[in-house]
Amino acid sequence: MSLRAILLLSALAASCATPTAAPTAASTIASPSEVYLQVLGVAQDAGYPQSGCYKEHCQRAWHNLAKRRAVSCLAVVDPEHSSKFLFDATPDMPEQLQMLQQLAPDADFDLDGVFLTHGHIGHYTGIMFFGREAQGSQAVPVHVMPRMSRFLAENGPWSQLVALGNIQLLALADQRATTLNSNLSVTPLLVPHRDEFTETVGFLIRGPQKTALYLPDIDKWDRWRIDIRDLLEDVDYAFLDATFFAADELPGRNMSEIPHPYVEESFALFADLPAALKAKVWFIHFNHTNPLLIEGSAAQKLVEQKGFHVARQGLRLPM
Ligand SMILES: [Zn+2]
Ligand SMILES: [Zn+2]
Ligand SMILES: [Zn+2]
Repeated sequence: MSLRAILLLSALAASCATPTAAPTAASTIASPSEVYLQVLGVAQDAGYPQSGCYKEHCQRAWHNLAKRRAVSCLAVVDPEHSSKFLFDATPDMPEQLQMLQQLAPDADFDLDGVFLTHGHIGHYTGIMFFGREAQGSQAVPVHVMPRMSRFLAENGPWSQLVALGNIQLLALADQRATTLNSNLSVTPLLVPHRDEFTETVGFLIRGPQKTALYLPDIDKWDRWRIDIRDLLEDVDYAFLDATFFAADELPGRNMSEIPHPYVEESFALFADLPAALKAKVWFIHFNHTNPLLIEGSAAQKLVEQKGFHVARQGLRLPM
């Protein structure tokens, strides 16, 4: 199926959407009822600073709380329906739920769904906080692909969340839109990644006016059946895997065992794109070694000079 077709299906799924106001500029919310996306974390699975790392790049964050960064996670808030949704459940979920509470308090907003990209530690383990030892939640809707669903249902401790009804597993299918309400639909896209336990997806999140792509993990761009450059034409925001900035980032580790598109490779792939497409790219999912975590770094400046963006915790975009 072509990308146009996927997006068209997503559009049809959300076709009962009410008429919307004129588009607004990024980072401004025109009305309190406007649907928006909020970035709740930008780090790779292990967060920043990383467990056991006392090198200079992590020391600056161990010694300064303000420099710490939570694991990659997006929230989408829909004031019209008093709904909020999470994209990935990270080990930093307690802090991320608290960030979301400031924007969309539980008294007024229901957490109406959590979407999980895959079974690596930064992307699903936060669901443990819904369980008996923590929140003891009731039937939080958790949207998952088939292997992820089996993985959670058949392996402890996750299976207890299912058995006790703390979470409710809802099935996703590749390229098929799930309609959440008249404003929002979500379409998973399978991507190549180290799928030891589960498959991996990115999400197309379609709002009343804008579509966002959330793609925190992929092996390499050229291993995907979809050309990311085509997909950029069809979305408004693309949160893309920027785990490593460059090939020499992990001395002593075999980086072919943990493939990701280096930011420098993405620069090269996107070099000839028009500025309007480059401006849709928000790099995210930074390893603790990635200089994009350091405010004011030469790497951050380079991303911006080239016309791309660095995703930052707290970024809000209208949907
Ligand atoms: Zn990851
Ligand atoms: Zn480190
Ligand atoms: Zn992963």
